[in-house]
Order: sequence, then C-alpha cells, then structure tokens
Amino acid sequence: YGDASQKIDYVFKVVLIGDSAVGKSQILSRFSRNEFSLDSKSTIGVEFQTRTLVIQHKSVKAQIWDTAGQERYRAVTSAYYRGALGAMLVYDITKRQTFDHIPRWLEELRAHADKNIVIILIGNKSDLEDQRAVPTEDAKEFAQTEELFFLETSALEATNVENAFLTVLTEIFNIVN
Ligand code: GDP
Ligand code: MG
Repeated sequence: YGDASQKIDYVFKVVLIGDSAVGKSQILSRFSRNEFSLDSKSTIGVEFQTRTLVIQHKSVKAQIWDTAGQERYRAVTSAYYRGALGAMLVYDITKRQTFDHIPRWLEELRAHADKNIVIILIGNKSDLEDQRAVPTEDAKEFAQTEELFFLETSALEATNVENAFLTVLTEIFNIVN
C-alpha cells in the first residue's frame, strides 16, 4: 500500500459509479486500505482515496473517486467525471435492477466523460452466489457488446478487487504511453 516517500510518475483519476448499495464504497475501501465493513454508512463527504502502485516500473498514483450519495440518475455532476481516465461501473449480482440500470449509467458516462475513458463493468457481491439474480453470461455479453472490461468481484472476500483496479489502471497506462 502507499509509500509517501516515493516519486510519482502518473496520477490516474478513476470514478466509481452505479446504484446505491451495490458496494462501491466497500470496493474502494478494500482497494485503498484493505478493509471491509458489513454495516458501511452511506458515503458522506469523502471525495476520493488514493493508493500508489507500480506498473511497468513506474509509480502510478490511483486517485479513486466515490459518489457522495449522489447515486440517483442524473445527480452525479460533470465535475465528478472531469479528468477521469477510468470508470468502474458497478452492479450487485443479487439485485437485477442494479444491472438493468447499467445502460443509463453508461449513457451518463458517455455524455459527461472523455470519450477515451477506460470502463470496466463490475458485478459485485460474488460471495452471495446463492442469491444470484444476474447470470454471469448476461453481463459478459453486455460488456462485449459495449466493449467494456468485465469482472465479478467480492469486496467482502477480496476476490478480484485488485484485479479490477489493475485491469483499468494498466489499460490507462498503456493508452498514455
Ligand atoms: P455503495 O452505496 O455502492 O457505496 O455500497 P456500500 O459499499 O456502502 O455497500 C452496501 C452494503 O453492501 C454494505 O452493507 C456492505 O457491507 C455490503 N457489501 C459491499 N460489498 C459487498 C460484497 O462484496 N459482499 C457482500 N456480501 N456484501 C457487500
Ligand atoms: Mg457509497
């Protein structure tokens, strides 16, 4: 995890979006502090968290923005998207509605963000397999059609969270280099 003394070669802004309660804040907390909380309060005031990591011998500071409870459609302002090089579009695999709203979030993103933004679709809460409401294949197919990266994650079990961030950050790295 972060090392304050290290020189920074790049700062990449990445935004988290998706419906309320899908696990965005816990995904961020898992990535930035390796922590998880089962009774997380809704996000208030926190703008972003950072973690510095090394990609191809360069130090990259990931600046990850979390919605401050602005998850209603159209409530996320364009300032949130400004300068973002990556986006993580999160739904909850146990809540079909959160997946059905993904096209709206994508529309928002495409309206406000840079057209070259790197996007990953994330089906979170993969630990709740017995409550699954969104088949992996449906999401995979959607991601393919829309040309998005796709992974299922569990912030609780720390499954694929690191992988999801690395996928986005490495792709951004390759684009800027
Ligand atoms: P946000 O509104 O999208 O930021 O969602 P939160 O991160 O606040 O999470 C909402 C709820 O889902 C909280 O009770 C979390 O503990 C829970 N949660 C988040 N990620 C996971 C996960 O991977 N697995 C399970 N079982 N619960 C999760
Ligand atoms: Mg939150």
